Amino acid sequence: MSTPRPRLLIHGASGRMGRSLLSLLAESTQLQLVAAVANAPRADLGALAVLRPAQIGQAPAFDVAIDFSAPQALPGLAEACVARGAALVSGTTGLDADALAALSTAALKVPVLWAANFSLGVALLAALSRMAASAVPDWDCEIIETHHRRKQDAPSGTALRLGEAVAAGRGQVLADVARHGRAGSEAPRIEGEIGFHAMRGGDVVGDHSLLFAGEAECIELSHRALSREVFARGALRAAVWLSGRTPGRYHIEDVLGLPHS
Ligand code: NAD
Repeated sequence: MSTPRPRLLIHGASGRMGRSLLSLLAESTQLQLVAAVANAPRADLGALAVLRPAQIGQAPAFDVAIDFSAPQALPGLAEACVARGAALVSGTTGLDADALAALSTAALKVPVLWAANFSLGVALLAALSRMAASAVPDWDCEIIETHHRRKQDAPSGTALRLGEAVAAGRGQVLADVARHGRAGSEAPRIEGEIGFHAMRGGDVVGDHSLLFAGEAECIELSHRALSREVFARGALRAAVWLSGRTPGRYHIEDVLGLPHS
């Protein structure tokens, strides 16, 4: 007898990530899309229930929700997941105290997995970085990231997460050793610091590299996101993995069986 496919609700279906999820789901055999929540109407979802955020309580039964929306939308979604006993996968960033509290409260009743970056490759890079830092804690480490010219923040949240992985591998606290950029007479490197460098240009989706430099040898670890699709693919895989698990907080690393920092 085949296992039934988890029933999926997409929250934020009209956004860039929502559209990417919908196009990937067209070929998915692992999840069954049953509802979508969108602020804007969508003509291309056929018979699917497309709900406005205020109507989420009317959604048909679902086993897992994937959310890429806005922080203020999370409490309502978290409540709906608890009411249905459904798992919650969220990639919405910039969470405020209300949204963070909503995730923690929901995790008492249902499985919850929130990640700032759903790329499985980045999760693997973080684990490799931690391993490298732990093996050669005295080597210098610099983290270099490149993003499109419109990116507002620097360094990227992912670069900071990689920095945390390196700091954890060395037994450091990132805030004590992070060094952002290097210029002028204060430029010489301080032993033990982790340097961050941000490049901006064009439409680069997201490149991250770590340089580990020892005496007469270097190791470079790099990841390149070729399209936003990587985040949607990671979220779909996380949804399949999370559905039906026991309540609690999970991490993207758990999906790959990796340790997390
Ligand atoms: P977008 O602006 O294109 O789409 C946002 C979506 O959220 C739209 O469908 C909009 O209708 C919906 N929305 C907004 N307010 C809502 C509300 N109150 N209730 C319900 N739905 C609401 O944005 P995007 O590029 O798709 O990104 C969405 C979020 O995901 C952002 O926070 C972004 O930073 C984050 N993101 C995370 C990852 C990751 O890997 N974790 C990757 C890409 C984007």
